[in-house]
Amino acid sequence: LIVIPHTKTRSRTLAFSKRTIRAAQGTALVLGLILLGVTADYVRLRLFHQDFTALRAENAKQREEISAYQSSVGDLERQLKVLADLAGKLNVMAGIKSPDAVPGFGFIGGPSDDHNQLSSAAPPPITSGQMQNVQQKAADIERNFGTLVNFFENKTAELAATPSIWPVRGWPSSGFQWRNDPFTGNRKFHFGLDIVASPGSPVVAPADGTIIAAASDNSLGNHVRILHGNGVTTIYGHLRIILVRVGQRVKRRDPIGEVGSTGMSIGPHLHYEVRKNDRAVNPYGYIIED
Ligand SMILES: [Zn+2]
Repeated sequence: LIVIPHTKTRSRTLAFSKRTIRAAQGTALVLGLILLGVTADYVRLRLFHQDFTALRAENAKQREEISAYQSSVGDLERQLKVLADLAGKLNVMAGIKSPDAVPGFGFIGGPSDDHNQLSSAAPPPITSGQMQNVQQKAADIERNFGTLVNFFENKTAELAATPSIWPVRGWPSSGFQWRNDPFTGNRKFHFGLDIVASPGSPVVAPADGTIIAAASDNSLGNHVRILHGNGVTTIYGHLRIILVRVGQRVKRRDPIGEVGSTGMSIGPHLHYEVRKNDRAVNPYGYIIED
């Protein structure tokens, strides 16, 4: 081994034995291998750290997504609960279910456990069973609403054909009761409702129906009879004029005549009679407006 210094001094020659050189070579080799190993470890560590950082970011993102998902499933459950409550009330109104078969019926203002659910900051973890439950509930509610729609569609036609309003605005005099006949003075049952109104006041159909009589006789004078369906008919007596003809279809509130005093009448009034299966019933049961 010759060491050449940078100064002007002459080079010095150092002599080593072959054994020393071999030992030095061996040591250098071992040191080199150790260095290589450490470097490799370091590189591996760096790469691992990079992966770890990426994974941690991914994990945080996924946690956020899961949290958003959980809270949206929670919202969905609350909305389904509101819909189920609404369907329950409609079922009771429609007479499809009894009130005790509908949980929570009568608690106006929504489900009672709403506040607890809203106050909890972190929603509980969603299980697949819970998800299945939500889907099952949604399917049940959908089916139930289908039944309700059918029911109300049928009911709408029936309700439109059920007398429900005053046929004329005026002052009820004789009701559906025993009274002294104004002509004979004898006790006689009055099968209708007399409504006093000024002559010419419009008389309207209290429900949809078909005119089955538009005629005149000695007792009812000019009178009209409407068939509403479900065995219900209505009669309007003592009209001044008749505005409809037999076979004509009328809608609720369509004018059918004017108040008069024709037939056995002592003053302008409407004799209003409601018959169910041709038996006179109290017309007050068919007036639901004030
Ligand atoms: Zn009468």
